[in-house]
Amino acid sequence: MAASKSLLDSLKKPEPTNFRMTDFRRELHLRHKREEHAKKEKLRALQESKYVSRYAITIDTSRARSNCDVLRMSIKELGFKEYPFGRKDNCCDVHWHACHFEENPEVFGGKVNKFPGMSEICSKMTLFRCLDIMRDLFPTDYDFYPRTWYLPAQFHEFSCEIRKMHERRVKPKPTFIIKPDTGAQGDGIYLLREPNEYSSLSGKCHVAQEYMSNVYLIDKFKFDFRIYVLLKSLEPLEFYICQEGLARFSTLPYENPTNKNIHESFMHLTNYSLNKRSSTFNRSDRDDEGSKRTLTSVLRRIAMNGHDSNKVWKSIERIVCKTIVAIVPEMKVEYQAAIPPGKTGPSCFQVLGFDILLLQNLKPILLEINASPSLSLDSEQEVSPGVFEYVLSPKDEEVKYPLIRDTLLHVVPIDKLKYFRKKKKQRLLKKLKASTSQKGKRPDPPVKQRTSIVIIKADESDEEKREVNVTQQMSEMHMDVDSHGDGTARDVNSDDERESNIKSDTELDEEVDNYFETKLRESCLKQLYPAIYDEECERYRILERVAGLFIFFLGIRGSLRIGPTGFRTFARKCRLNRKGMTNASVDIMYIDLQRRWDHMNPERTSGLCYQGFLDACIEIARRKFYAPTKIEMLENLVDHCELNLNLRDNDLANNLPRLHFRRLGLQYRQGSMYAMPRRVIDQMTEETTIEDLLKAHEKKLRQPSREDIEAFLRKSRRMIYQPSSGSRVISVTKSPDSE
Ligand code: ADP
Repeated sequence: MAASKSLLDSLKKPEPTNFRMTDFRRELHLRHKREEHAKKEKLRALQESKYVSRYAITIDTSRARSNCDVLRMSIKELGFKEYPFGRKDNCCDVHWHACHFEENPEVFGGKVNKFPGMSEICSKMTLFRCLDIMRDLFPTDYDFYPRTWYLPAQFHEFSCEIRKMHERRVKPKPTFIIKPDTGAQGDGIYLLREPNEYSSLSGKCHVAQEYMSNVYLIDKFKFDFRIYVLLKSLEPLEFYICQEGLARFSTLPYENPTNKNIHESFMHLTNYSLNKRSSTFNRSDRDDEGSKRTLTSVLRRIAMNGHDSNKVWKSIERIVCKTIVAIVPEMKVEYQAAIPPGKTGPSCFQVLGFDILLLQNLKPILLEINASPSLSLDSEQEVSPGVFEYVLSPKDEEVKYPLIRDTLLHVVPIDKLKYFRKKKKQRLLKKLKASTSQKGKRPDPPVKQRTSIVIIKADESDEEKREVNVTQQMSEMHMDVDSHGDGTARDVNSDDERESNIKSDTELDEEVDNYFETKLRESCLKQLYPAIYDEECERYRILERVAGLFIFFLGIRGSLRIGPTGFRTFARKCRLNRKGMTNASVDIMYIDLQRRWDHMNPERTSGLCYQGFLDACIEIARRKFYAPTKIEMLENLVDHCELNLNLRDNDLANNLPRLHFRRLGLQYRQGSMYAMPRRVIDQMTEETTIEDLLKAHEKKLRQPSREDIEAFLRKSRRMIYQPSSGSRVISVTKSPDSE
């Protein structure tokens, strides 16, 4: 009772003033602490953002969708910094888009993993049109894809061809495959043998292709390869092939097409997305089994069957090179439209998927290019009838993970990569010093913990954890080096071995230096162009020069079509009138070609597209720059145009037109290449020597040097070297056009 009374008394008593004061002070103190903490946080965030923008290699994965898993794995392995929701300022080193370049139009720097317009270029119609143009110029070199017709526009030609084949009684009876222009995953594909089986009711455009029935089979199944290619840059052209890929098998044993089996898609189509629905889909994880296998395992099998698999691989490499060279002109046109010269924009790279079929004679055949090949690591598994579960597919992981990791290593900014290496080295040395200073002591548990921190992989969003990650990689490196023959790793900090295992600074220096170099050296990506096929492909790149002329005369920045004025300017500036092209004939040609290419212009915008312009060039070359072959005629025309535009000098003659052609054009014009006056050229005979030409220029305002004249003659192919006389003499090679 007494106790409760005293409690009541105390409650009644007024609160002492000093208690209030204490409370107030505590509040003040707390507020002060909070503010200080906020300040520190702000400073830390600022430092971190400074660190990030200066040194961290940042990847924006906010638009990566199904590519996210493989991308995240690669980012973690490399120790880069991921922005899963993007960055406020949109300033990442790499922006990874799932489908299109345009997915995030706010990107003005860094790199984007898609080229503008690539999906359209890889659509079946555009791709095979590009290849058809090349086949027209280089008939024997571009014979690696099936004959193609574009429907409905070429339905007449297509049905005539089938009729002719029937009349010739071609055996086996020819079969054709119809594919929607922009289709994927086998959607809307069917086989036919009579033209009237083609249905144009859908209003869609299709390609009809000769069906390649004589295919190479493994275990009686048809298959095709998915080859991954990294197009690293367009200017200068640089691309790599992934040395590992996938082989996708059909799920019904293959038979030559007959009227009976023509509708069996599980027999004739090899798409994974289609065949995974088949009850006979084989999900074996073994290398040489299953409906999805690795490329190398199939090549091994081909070698085991007594064939030369290296030769097959080389042919595939060549197909990749020729195909990329064929689409580059279109890509350049699209690129300048999306990022016109002078406008800031990201640079681009892209991983492409080539679908390649093998014929019985092991000749590879290109079926299509996929602009956004699946990079998903999951595969579907039916756990009970109709119920599917996604599980990690080891074969997909084996192929796609190194592909993306090495792609990132190739495209991230090299200076940051260098700094990243330096930073890594500094951290390692700091840790090493700390551990040496504790030499002799018992191994401290934190070191062991450091090794076990490997498990902390969930979040790398702050610098501290980044450090952990780097430590983890380095500790892995230690473990690699110290691993026993049996592959098990020792604890480098164990009592007796500790001292002997600690490496010298220089050794570690080298180790860190070698880290990325080894990674790049051991890369699954092999450079095809320019490293290997540079010379072989050079002559195929003539169309890039035509694209360069097209871009030069486009007029409006960022446009994709040349107007009548642009076309007339092209004829005037290139002095085509000197070759007999009148203004009227130029105008008629423009109208004619614009009408002919109208079907490629669904938006009905005015102007002539690049392919129409190319057609015009081929026509002009045929009429006015006659030579024994088409390619020579076109070369003559392009030489003539570039010469008249003063777009070439010694360097440019070797270098094909660049992306920012206009800017470079100006630059080179200033550098000025000497062009010989028409009057002097006309007076040249077989006996004219360089001395004569020098004399002809005497007392002129701009007198060329001997080198200028020689360079001009070499380019205009008017100079020959006569070993007998030991001196260079001029020969006027009279082509029909110059008469
Ligand atoms: P999609 O883009 O819809 O996947 P593809 O062109 O890749 O279309 O064709 C799908 C499948 O059809 C290929 O994987 C291949 O098995 C088969 N195929 C396509 N074209 C031919 C052809 N010309 N000859 C034989 N088989 C073909």
